[in-house]
Amino acid sequence: MSVEQILGGKGRDVVTIGPDRTLADAAQCLAERRIGAVVVVDGSGGVQGIISERDVVRAVAEAGASALQAPVSSRMTSKVVTCLPTSSIDEIMGLMTTGKFRHVPVLDGGRLAGIISIGDVVKQRLAEVESEHRALRDYIATA
Ligand code: AMP
Repeated sequence: MSVEQILGGKGRDVVTIGPDRTLADAAQCLAERRIGAVVVVDGSGGVQGIISERDVVRAVAEAGASALQAPVSSRMTSKVVTCLPTSSIDEIMGLMTTGKFRHVPVLDGGRLAGIISIGDVVKQRLAEVESEHRALRDYIATA
């Protein structure tokens, strides 16, 4: 199973934010869209970073509520780990486990083409396990 197949089911929309917006804007965006991370892009859509709910919480814990007025660029992770539409789900699980993050943007020809969250990976794996169980039960019933 590849990233492309997951995107075919969930869609390719990616919620983005500019680096000069505030952490308050990012928090509002995360809450409104009910997501855990936003990809930070420049004016031409190039990926500059990623900011997740953890970055916002850490900023407030370290600097208090005034941190919410800081720019997204001050708290985002600039070195974004990305994948390709052809990447496998096993590869994504490996990236998330090693990097300890729950979101992986998908790049196609250098352009944003979707995002895979840990929730998408878990959903996919559950569907695969259920399908294997069904096949085994059918096999046993007809043997
Ligand atoms: P998350 O688990 O996705 O909420 O993110 C945990 C931390 O990893 C935060 O500091 C994020 O900015 C960072 N992060 C999230 N996704 C990625 C990614 N794909 N590449 C690099 N860092 C990331």
